[in-house]
Amino acid sequence: MLTGLTIAIIGGDARQLEIIRKLTEQDAKVFLIGFDQLDHGFTGATKLKLNELDFGTIDSIILPVSGTSMEGTVATVFSNEKVVLKQEHLEKTKPHCAIYSGISNQYLDGMAKGANRRLIKLFERDDIAIYNSIPTVEGAIMMAIQHTDFTIHGSNVMVLGLGRTGMSISRTFSALGARVKVGARDSAHLARIMEMGLTPFHTNELAEHVENIDICINTIPSLILDKHVLSRMTPRTLILDLATRPGGTDFDFAEKQGIKALLAPGLPGIVAPKTAGQIIANVLCNLLSELTTDRKGLS
Ligand code: NAP
Repeated sequence: MLTGLTIAIIGGDARQLEIIRKLTEQDAKVFLIGFDQLDHGFTGATKLKLNELDFGTIDSIILPVSGTSMEGTVATVFSNEKVVLKQEHLEKTKPHCAIYSGISNQYLDGMAKGANRRLIKLFERDDIAIYNSIPTVEGAIMMAIQHTDFTIHGSNVMVLGLGRTGMSISRTFSALGARVKVGARDSAHLARIMEMGLTPFHTNELAEHVENIDICINTIPSLILDKHVLSRMTPRTLILDLATRPGGTDFDFAEKQGIKALLAPGLPGIVAPKTAGQIIANVLCNLLSELTTDRKGLS
């Protein structure tokens, strides 16, 4: 239980609703900023404007998956009001206050550091990344179906990267009957790809492997599908680039080559916001319970 914890949830989308539900069920006292247009009333949660929040009472702040913009603006799907989080807000919180965000940027990192508050980037955690790979794969399948006129079954699929997302993508497309080749640079990854019954290749040799590919799914967050590689690809290849913005594809050059290349960010929040919210809520609850246990230990 999270009894005794006061938590501010600042901004966010439908995923935040699962977090609010879970935290209020666990008896936390929750303040909602940027939710004035949300019809649903959660018992135990109070809607406020940012300037009405008493930061001095706050044990934890939960930001949207995107964190803040480089100007401190927090995305608020359930409000038209602009919410800008500043270092002076964080400085007023209790000294042990932790800030939870999906990802971060220089502004958010700098603000947390300047205020001497812990910033936890949830999407860097293996557990969240692995759970999130499940809705991500479903989103990739959805896009592959929407943007092709052939079945995944029997098609030649290339996956780039055997990280937490690439592994789930490779396994699932193979289970759907695709012939899957996976590119990686780590020798242990290449061994794992072979063990999984898939075809491994080193990403240094990518250009030699792209000729006959129907769907190429990239999970490598750096420019891997560059001019040299794209010039060896046929225009019938569909590229689904899942890597974080700006992706790993030279999109302008792909267009010039007549190759359909789609950057597909945030698939879990698009195809399964409820599940994506539950994934974050469950891990958050465990982290916050540890906080209450630590505080009991100290008192
Ligand atoms: P991850 O576990 O870190 O996997 C990334 C993989 O890329 C690693 O295996 C890494 O291999 C490999 N890699 C990195 N740079 C490389 C390079 N220059 N050459 C060859 N391989 C390279 O990350 P993840 O959790 O799978 O996420 C992958 C990307 O997808 C991230 O950008 C993430 O933000 C994004 N993502 C997007 C969605 C969506 O909805 N679109 C959902 C989830 C994640 P090494 O171990 O050799 O470095």
